Amino acid sequence: MALIVHKYGGTSMGSVERIKNVARRVAKWHAAGHKVVVVPSAMSGETNRLLGLAREISAMPDGRELDMIAATGEQASSGLLALALQAEGVAARSYAGWQVPVRTDSAYTKARIQEIDATRVQADLDAGRVVVITGFQGVDDNGYITTLGRGGSDTSAVAIAAALGADECLIYTDVDGVYTTDPRIVPEARRLNVVSFEEMLEMASLGSKVLQIRSVEFAGKYRVPVRVLSSLTDPLIPLDEEMRSGTLITFEEDEKMESAVVSGIAFSRDEAKITLVGVPDTPGVASAILGPVAAAGIDVDMIIQNQSVEGTTLFSFTVNRNELLRARQVLDTQVVPAIKAREVLTDEKVCKVSIVGIGMRSHVGVAALMFETLAKEGINIRMISTSEIKTSVVIEDKYMELAVRSLHKAFGLDGEPKVA
Ligand code: ADP
Ligand code: ASP
Ligand code: MG
Repeated sequence: MALIVHKYGGTSMGSVERIKNVARRVAKWHAAGHKVVVVPSAMSGETNRLLGLAREISAMPDGRELDMIAATGEQASSGLLALALQAEGVAARSYAGWQVPVRTDSAYTKARIQEIDATRVQADLDAGRVVVITGFQGVDDNGYITTLGRGGSDTSAVAIAAALGADECLIYTDVDGVYTTDPRIVPEARRLNVVSFEEMLEMASLGSKVLQIRSVEFAGKYRVPVRVLSSLTDPLIPLDEEMRSGTLITFEEDEKMESAVVSGIAFSRDEAKITLVGVPDTPGVASAILGPVAAAGIDVDMIIQNQSVEGTTLFSFTVNRNELLRARQVLDTQVVPAIKAREVLTDEKVCKVSIVGIGMRSHVGVAALMFETLAKEGINIRMISTSEIKTSVVIEDKYMELAVRSLHKAFGLDGEPKVA
């Protein structure tokens, strides 16, 4: 008998029929003698609908209230799933994040889980119940509802699996595993049987929304075995077959690892580029710009500052597109007057495309092939950043799909991977 956490995303919970299928699948695991905790997302489209309503009222809505609104999506789907389980003859009980409780900090709309009290859940499991816990949400020290950022149900599931010491966390979604890139953009993308933890961490952080980055961080920190698999198969397929399907995140770089130089291509449309013009090239200026931005809780990604010509320089960085307005406000009101920069330029029509692979550590010329491929397609690179196992570029967003497809091909991911 094992303790397993299942997570079902929005599409998997997208209709009453799909919820009934989830209940059938969970009932199968329960009938086989396993203890099961299920973490559902809101029904597909629901979180967007709720946040859209809020934005109709306010262009810069208060985060606390946004979380109050957005968290209702998961609450509804959790109650519906508990009912569907009961209809399958399974004793089931649902909990909101605050009832567990899932404790978080107070960074509304992107809160971080700090602690999960598993006592109540454990007691239900011991009593033979399936426990349903809302994904995406928690509670802060004030007792206020928080949410974990878009895609946050993945993180809820892995964190709950860690808190319970679960044997495995199964992330059921609308594709049958982790692919070399988003199969919706590149139909030739291949499913990976295993992906290394490090590569998954990079791919998630660079925009592959198949897993939220923090869920991968939790998996690494607490060594939770995570498998990504399809919720759209026959819910009654044999358990052993199900356990062999999908993609396993592995912590070992063993012979099972696929030995491609580049394992995947990630991309993100959620980018916006900010450039400060006429920045005095003096010590402390980067901190004078980015300090207030960080103090406002805005994450900065790529940063570029060049050598000055005649004492002033350009300073560019990227932020998440939905934080652009706030970042701009901080710059206009606090930074520009303080450092006496000339002006602030913003560009929302950009995206980030990245190549990821642990094979990049031991190979030269990988980034060069990336740049050459983009050049052949006439795609201009606006920013570049590299680390040991990834190279990212910022380009105009209308070229995103072309860039992803041509890189996927150039690195041999369409066919057999390039052997290291
Ligand atoms: P869920 O609602 O189940 O959480 P998401 O939409 O958040 O599902 O994530 C699954 C989607 O992630 C897929 O439908 C696919 O379009 C996208 N995706 C992006 N990159 C990848 C990748 N490398 N492998 C698989 N899916 C990917
Ligand atoms: N419902 C939330 C979202 O759409 C969380 C999730 O699906 O993981 O972002
Ligand atoms: Mg998701």
